[in-house]
Amino acid sequence: MNNEKCKKKVLAEEIVEWRRDFHKYPELSFEEKRTSKIVAEFLSSLGLYVKENINGHGVTADLLVKENGPTIALRADMDALPIQEETELSFASTVPGVMHACGHDGHTSILMGAAKLLASNRDKLNGNIRFIFQPAEEVNPGGAIGMINNGVLDGVDAVFGLHLWSELPSGTFRTCYGPMMAATDQFKIEVKGKGGHGGMPHKTTDSIVIASHLIMSAQHIISRNINPLESGVITFGKFESGSAFNIIANKAVLEGTARSFTPEVRDIIQTNMEELVDGLRKIYGTDIKVDYKRGYPAVVNHEKEVDVLLDAASKVFGSENTGIMEPKMVGEDFSYYLKEIPGAFCFVGAGKPNHPMYPHHHPRFQIDENVLPAASEWFYKLALKYFSGSSSDSSYLENSDRSTNDGKDE
Ligand code: MN
Repeated sequence: MNNEKCKKKVLAEEIVEWRRDFHKYPELSFEEKRTSKIVAEFLSSLGLYVKENINGHGVTADLLVKENGPTIALRADMDALPIQEETELSFASTVPGVMHACGHDGHTSILMGAAKLLASNRDKLNGNIRFIFQPAEEVNPGGAIGMINNGVLDGVDAVFGLHLWSELPSGTFRTCYGPMMAATDQFKIEVKGKGGHGGMPHKTTDSIVIASHLIMSAQHIISRNINPLESGVITFGKFESGSAFNIIANKAVLEGTARSFTPEVRDIIQTNMEELVDGLRKIYGTDIKVDYKRGYPAVVNHEKEVDVLLDAASKVFGSENTGIMEPKMVGEDFSYYLKEIPGAFCFVGAGKPNHPMYPHHHPRFQIDENVLPAASEWFYKLALKYFSGSSSDSSYLENSDRSTNDGKDE
């Protein structure tokens, strides 16, 4: 084994070790104390300029190579979920009721690996890197916005991030131009009726009938108020009401989520939901309360940066495994970074071969660890690609980039 290959193998083992450790000791959103300490200590050991405790337990590290060169930010999220793990992994969570069920343990380890790779190849870089380890992706208002308010994007030209995706086969890569993930809003509606005897409805205000009317009419917002060529989702995930088969319920509580890709559709859904409730108040002469909360905006990728991601991905994962996906109606607070500066986000397939697929946020969720080192390398390649495109002195980088294309020397 030559020296480079040996180094690569050692790094791959380290990345998997970090990931297993994070998986074993998961921490909830805004509680990432242990994780961020490990991250910060490691980044310091690489000689990077590290800042800690940003917006809670956020960490950034700067790899300064060219004072007046471009700077890109690479981002990972570190938090786990309030789920009781049900895998039989040897490194399953040791914290009751807390689990890395979305792959953020992988994201953190991948970016640590990328930091090591980039720091040890700094002579090949024609720009600077800021590593962003963000807390609390999983809970509104999310950790990203607080990181941005603390200046983590100051002086940064473009930002990139990834999400491991168990529904895609391991080693495949997907992204898309423009909207990729949805704005995720949340609502709670309380219908106050007047209870009474199931046999005498005329003496009551039936909150179940009113709530049902609301649920059915809300779907008309999607089918009748939104341009059919646009996309939107209204989902009622919770309907609580009633106490017995022969009693008319005096209260119904509905909870749900609204998803959209554009600010226009987002506004139409919210405005029409509120108008619908207004109308029902009048029709039924009863009080209905709405609490409509905006969550993360849509993840909207920038074109030039998507090109950079795809170029790096085809080098690492192979062009046959790299492609464009349909946008998904799930959310990510990476969107906030993309509202500030150009950048792009993507999915790295992490579905375990020959293993039942459990979706993200499932107690049996798993990822294929074998893809983690490749994802670190992908971050490295995208930095090379980005700087080769934005540099005035690109010949050196183009050459070094080409020399790594055969995949043997990294
Ligand atoms: Mn996630």
